[in-house]
Amino acid sequence: MTYIITSLCLRDGGCVDVCPVECIVPGNPQDKWPWYYIDPDTCIDCGACIPECPYEAIFTEDEVPDAFEAMGDEVQSMPAGTAGFDTPWEGENHHGQTVKLASTKVLEAGEAVDLTADTKPNYDFFEDGPGYWDGWEEAVSG
Ligand code: SF4
Ligand code: SF4
Repeated sequence: MTYIITSLCLRDGGCVDVCPVECIVPGNPQDKWPWYYIDPDTCIDCGACIPECPYEAIFTEDEVPDAFEAMGDEVQSMPAGTAGFDTPWEGENHHGQTVKLASTKVLEAGEAVDLTADTKPNYDFFEDGPGYWDGWEEAVSG
């Protein structure tokens, strides 16, 4: 098993520092890889990242919900061009740096969202995508 970062990730970066095996990497380029991603082959299932996420975007692989029930005002982020994700979002990461996301959607209270499709990008990012790209550690060090 591994842990999975889902589309509720807003690139806050707060989970990176607590990972004892440094397997959480920010997506790059951001328009194609908008979340942070967990390397499934390196994650040791310690669970330290889950309480650090202010947006509750991280789940164990077998608990990624197929019907996540929104409380309302959660923001879901997708690669640029994803249909229905037309709202820009701006906030701060845990270093106080501005984060801008172009392709997001604000969830309504009671809306049920299937997050299971978010599992595969965590694998793809490391198998076919940039993985541990040059400069990722500097990018998250603030
Ligand atoms: S703490 Fe949550 S929102 Fe921040 S980068 Fe990690 S998964 Fe994304
Ligand atoms: S569960 Fe532990 S090892 Fe896996 S990504 Fe989270 S902090 Fe890192």
